Amino acid sequence: MLPWTVRRTRLPLLSLRCLDCRSESATTGEGKFRVNANGKLLDVWLLVRCVSCDRTSKLTVYERARVRSIDPAELDGYHTNDPELVASTLLDPLMARRNRFTLDWTDAWRLHAPPARLDGPWPVQVEVVFDDPVPVRPDWLIAHGLGLSRNEVLRRIKCDIPLRRTTIAGFTFTVMAVD
Ligand SMILES: [Zn+2]
Repeated sequence: MLPWTVRRTRLPLLSLRCLDCRSESATTGEGKFRVNANGKLLDVWLLVRCVSCDRTSKLTVYERARVRSIDPAELDGYHTNDPELVASTLLDPLMARRNRFTLDWTDAWRLHAPPARLDGPWPVQVEVVFDDPVPVRPDWLIAHGLGLSRNEVLRRIKCDIPLRRTTIAGFTFTVMAVD
């Protein structure tokens, strides 16, 4: 089974409307949190900035959360702007839902695929693993990864999920030999 991996090359942009200039693209930039403690309660925001006018917006991570309910190592990560925590916070689907943005993965990921020989008499099996939740259409990814046309993909690929439906979960497929 050939291993393919979908992995981000950087953090995706956010499709989020700017209140000042109406642009619909924002970035986490270097990645910065703001923490505000009020007695035993805590607010945590992830700061993002409009790519057109630089206006900063705050995305809610925690709102009036009890300090003791947050893992100390995690809290430390918010204070030090830990890049891993910035990434996992941004990619958390709950964050997107709560703060009404979607992720824009354009040019922010790539497919790592070892070269495959497709001219043999045997079917080739491929397992696709997602290191990051990049939404892709399997037919597009397979065509791109194997250098096949979409028509050839539909003719030669047997897949365990629908080929035209966008996914962020791993799947496997088989390339049938040319007949
Ligand atoms: Zn703006």
